[in-house]
Amino acid sequence: MTVKAVDETVLCYVGLGSNLDGPDQQVLAAMDQLGAGTHCQIVKCSSLYRSAPMGDQQQPDFINAVCSIHTQLGPHAILDYLFDIERDHQRIRYVDRPGGPRSLDLDLLLYGDSQINESGLTVPHPRMHLRRFVLLPLSEIAPELCIPGRGLVYELLNQDQIKRQRVSRLPVQA
Ligand code: AMP
Repeated sequence: MTVKAVDETVLCYVGLGSNLDGPDQQVLAAMDQLGAGTHCQIVKCSSLYRSAPMGDQQQPDFINAVCSIHTQLGPHAILDYLFDIERDHQRIRYVDRPGGPRSLDLDLLLYGDSQINESGLTVPHPRMHLRRFVLLPLSEIAPELCIPGRGLVYELLNQDQIKRQRVSRLPVQA
């Protein structure tokens, strides 16, 4: 991966999702991996959530979660790090089925309060404010969080089109 550091530690949010090959374990293992290297320290992890697929309905439900992390990596380096973890989980991208099933999907949701529009990287993640499976776990670990340019997470969750999406928190495993 490209390692490009910034001068200070930045608080970031990462979205995790899987609907193939043992989705719960894929997401939990990816959380461990995120915090295991020298690049990031995990601050908080949400519970796991089960969500209905959006768009392409012919696939299993997803398991989703979000984590907050501290990092000194720049935004592109963090995204490269997330791609490395996806590859470790045998993530395959089907060009003819972009919203289709996947063993692991990692998104850089927020990078501090930065707004970035560059080739291959948009932050805040361009669809995070439309997805209950992102907003609900975010509200669990950061109830007062504001998405730059979009608004407060708990206010976004109150919109009808968000409330209609089927997302439920999984019971914590003993
Ligand atoms: P996906 O298939 O959902 O994993 O999308 C990955 C593609 O979205 C890659 O080409 C990324 O470069 C691009 N992308 C742009 N912004 C982001 C972001 N904030 N987090 C993750 N992927 C992003």
